[in-house]
Amino acid sequence: EKKQSLVERDRQNVWHHISPYSEKNPPMVIKEGKGSWITDEQGNRYLDGMSGLWCVNVGYGREELAQAAYEQIKKIAYIPMTQSHEPAIKLAEKLNEMLDDDYMIFYSNSGSDANEVAFKIARQYHQQNGDPNRYKVISRYRAYHGSSMGALSATGQALRKYKYEPLTSGFLHVSPPDNYRKPEGISIEEYNIQRAEEIEQTIIWEQKETVAAVIMEPVITGGGILIPHPVYVEKVQEICNKHGVLLIIDEVICGFGRTGKAFGHKHFNIKPDIITMAKGLTSAYLPLSVTAVRKDIYESFKSGEENSHFRHVNTFGGNPAACALALKNIEIMEEEGLFDRSAQLGDRLLQELDELRTHPYVGDVRGVGLMVGIELVEDKISKEPASKERIGTIIAACKDNGLIVGKNGDTVAGYNNILTLSPPLSSTDDDIDFMIAILKKVFKENM
Ligand code: PMP
Repeated sequence: EKKQSLVERDRQNVWHHISPYSEKNPPMVIKEGKGSWITDEQGNRYLDGMSGLWCVNVGYGREELAQAAYEQIKKIAYIPMTQSHEPAIKLAEKLNEMLDDDYMIFYSNSGSDANEVAFKIARQYHQQNGDPNRYKVISRYRAYHGSSMGALSATGQALRKYKYEPLTSGFLHVSPPDNYRKPEGISIEEYNIQRAEEIEQTIIWEQKETVAAVIMEPVITGGGILIPHPVYVEKVQEICNKHGVLLIIDEVICGFGRTGKAFGHKHFNIKPDIITMAKGLTSAYLPLSVTAVRKDIYESFKSGEENSHFRHVNTFGGNPAACALALKNIEIMEEEGLFDRSAQLGDRLLQELDELRTHPYVGDVRGVGLMVGIELVEDKISKEPASKERIGTIIAACKDNGLIVGKNGDTVAGYNNILTLSPPLSSTDDDIDFMIAILKKVFKENM
């Protein structure tokens, strides 16, 4: 056994996201997890208020999930998706049952992958339907859709992009509804309709015959928990229908109970053409993602005709162990009523944290399901986003008190000021009480 600590060996060998190494905020080496709690190499315990990266919906240490993967690997570990297998078939059926609709399920490995698949299908679909010039994709500023070149092009956060240009052409952005910052003298509803109309104007100005799809999350998550008024989402659907543009809904975070329903788009009266899923699909125990495509879109990819094949091989997509695990994961969520639990725990968290609004630097407290954002500002009148230092202090104090919280927004625009809470949906009442107590304490001590 090597003499150096794991922390030191990590520092010398592992390239992490964001920066090579941060003295001030070094990566923790995590050893194990149970329920909502994780333990690091030194034995420190933390409540994971972010479920990893918004994904460990059923919590850590689920023996049944390990067992489901183990049993499948023993039977057969790998089958390429040019063939098929029982877990992939059963999972596709289960997802259709949950969607309460008729979709074809395409498997890949990550949320980014699932969105790439969606863009390719949208472009090819239009080509095969007499609309060969429709290739543009509209998304919103502040939204995150992934890190691969296409998904990054759809992402509306400049800092993640500018070093990697030129990105994929044909990706356009519009502003999302940000109800906390809506202009004075206009109702939330009216403001949301205006934001949706910006999409219609973009489609028209770009020439509607060139626009393939709109992609959006039901609620912008990583961009700072921006919860639209339902009129916004429903209006976007109406606009897409009117102009022959496909509506892709990114459920990578919102799906599987995060917003208190099976899927985030179930809060609205819409029928997406394409739905992408990842993260909570397996509670991140194994990599797996899905692009669910409306059946009539699928049917235009006529089988047998070389020219209309959908060409997107990915070796690991639909991995049998991942599919078997996803089925068990969904079974756990249903048996334990975790979608309803998400709504209940989220309501409680939101109610309790509402009192933080009296804090001089808390501009807004908002949430839906088990996903709460606390927007920090320097000044409540001007709503100037809080400084990096101010947010950093709160996050560090939470960590010192055993609570991991997140931070979201877009750094370039200065909106990286939304503290985010997104614990496992399986959190106990005590876990939620712990989060509430620590947050109240930390905000009180940092007036
Ligand atoms: N879409 C959304 C909304 C996401 O939050 C993410 C990941 N944070 C992705 C897509 C990309 O998923 P992945 O990291 O699995 O590629």
